[in-house]
Amino acid sequence: MNINIDQTIQELKQSNCASDTNFFQAVTEVLESIKPILDENGDYETHSIVKRIVTPDRVIKFKVAWVDDDNKVQINRGYRVQFDNTLGPYKGGLRFHPSVNEDILSFLAFEQIFKNALTGLSIGGAKGGSDFDPKGKSDMEVMRFCKSFMVELHRYIGARTDVPAGDIGVGAREIGYLYGAYKNMTSLYEGVLTGKQISFGGSNIRPEATGYGTVYFTQKLLEINDMPSLQDKVCLVSGCGNVATYTIEKLYHIGAVPVSCSDSRGVLHDKDGIDLELLKTIKKDRKNSLKLYTDRKKGATYTAVEDFKPEQNDLWDIPCFAAFPCATQNELKKQDAKNLQKNGCQVVAEGANMPCTPDAIDIFLGHDILFGPAKAANAGGVAVSEFEMSQNAAMQTWSREVVDKKLKETMNNICKQLHSTAKKYDLGQNYVQAANIAGFKKIADAMVALGV
Ligand code: NDP
Repeated sequence: MNINIDQTIQELKQSNCASDTNFFQAVTEVLESIKPILDENGDYETHSIVKRIVTPDRVIKFKVAWVDDDNKVQINRGYRVQFDNTLGPYKGGLRFHPSVNEDILSFLAFEQIFKNALTGLSIGGAKGGSDFDPKGKSDMEVMRFCKSFMVELHRYIGARTDVPAGDIGVGAREIGYLYGAYKNMTSLYEGVLTGKQISFGGSNIRPEATGYGTVYFTQKLLEINDMPSLQDKVCLVSGCGNVATYTIEKLYHIGAVPVSCSDSRGVLHDKDGIDLELLKTIKKDRKNSLKLYTDRKKGATYTAVEDFKPEQNDLWDIPCFAAFPCATQNELKKQDAKNLQKNGCQVVAEGANMPCTPDAIDIFLGHDILFGPAKAANAGGVAVSEFEMSQNAAMQTWSREVVDKKLKETMNNICKQLHSTAKKYDLGQNYVQAANIAGFKKIADAMVALGV
């Protein structure tokens, strides 16, 4: 079966009527990757699997009207992109950030279907959110916004239909308000959202899961490729939100030395290792600048974004063994990848979604730098979200040890799956292609079996 990627993208553009840069970047990568397996199953063509897999089931858009602290009504846009539920209920986070639009959420939802397939769990893919910015809002404003958001969203979700979770700007506080609103409107105390606090149905290890999982995955990836472990190695981490914080924490657990973090305003470098408690204290208030850290730790340096050298992020020019981009999409570009390579970096694992640009990934793959793509490396978050759904369905609470063990097993299995797929299709260490092929096959075969 021949696949004309340009034509598929063109058709998609016409049906979408959008200039969806991030979405088409993600679609192009997947379509390029799966070429070798399209002839494996003759039914793929008859069932129009390629077209079906790149077309979202539905995109829900709604108005969110809410009242601010000055008693003025504010309006934001809300979205839920339910991309595909072939393997199970729609599952994927909610993002509250001014940059949120249909393009970003479509790309995230599309990536989510493959990521969820790789976990081996029964979950389909979705993503949602709003251009609302929780930064600088009072708790009461965030609560009123979440309630108004849920007034619309609750019509489309349910414990067996669509189960949102957190993402950028949506943490335990927002999930609490959203869940409270859902419960009040429906009278249902069901696992409709994950990332809840333990006292009302959350799972142990959910906050830690994405960061911990990324480190588990990377350790396994190194082991499976007969490379040195992360112990005693200098590691770079970007971001300082949920994923970055717990990546740093797990790196310490295994004896590695994480020396950096960042936010949208600048980069922090502490060659002695980031003081995680100090970082958490400073970032309790997200408005705080990372520069505050250097007041307490004299050896540390802070570089503001406006002082970066041209065309690069100074964070990625620090010598390291391993790099973990954990902030946001397209944050690590070609020059950054060249800097990592020049400084001897041996492994890069994506904690964030699509943080590395395609030309940066080409540099890694072309220079034998082991690369763990987001779909695989950061799947720990959604895996533990599914564990939360299972616990809610059975009205149980699993211990930290049980959840952590299952998380580690899941990440190891994803890694082994990628390795065996790479072997089978002679892909060398191209785990980007291996992840896309393994995820695509699971969904495509199930689509064929289910019919239309
Ligand atoms: P958070 O909102 O907790 O943290 C995001 C962090 O990234 C903040 O420190 C933010 O800084 C920083 N950031 C945002 N934009 C930039 C930028 N342009 N340059 C540098 N730093 C930036 O989000 P999460 O940690 O939850 O999510 C991070 C990434 O991981 C996202 O790509 C998300 O989709 C992905 N992910 C998250 C999962 C989860 O379980 N939370 C699961 C799987 C993937 P600032 O405060 O200044 O904005």
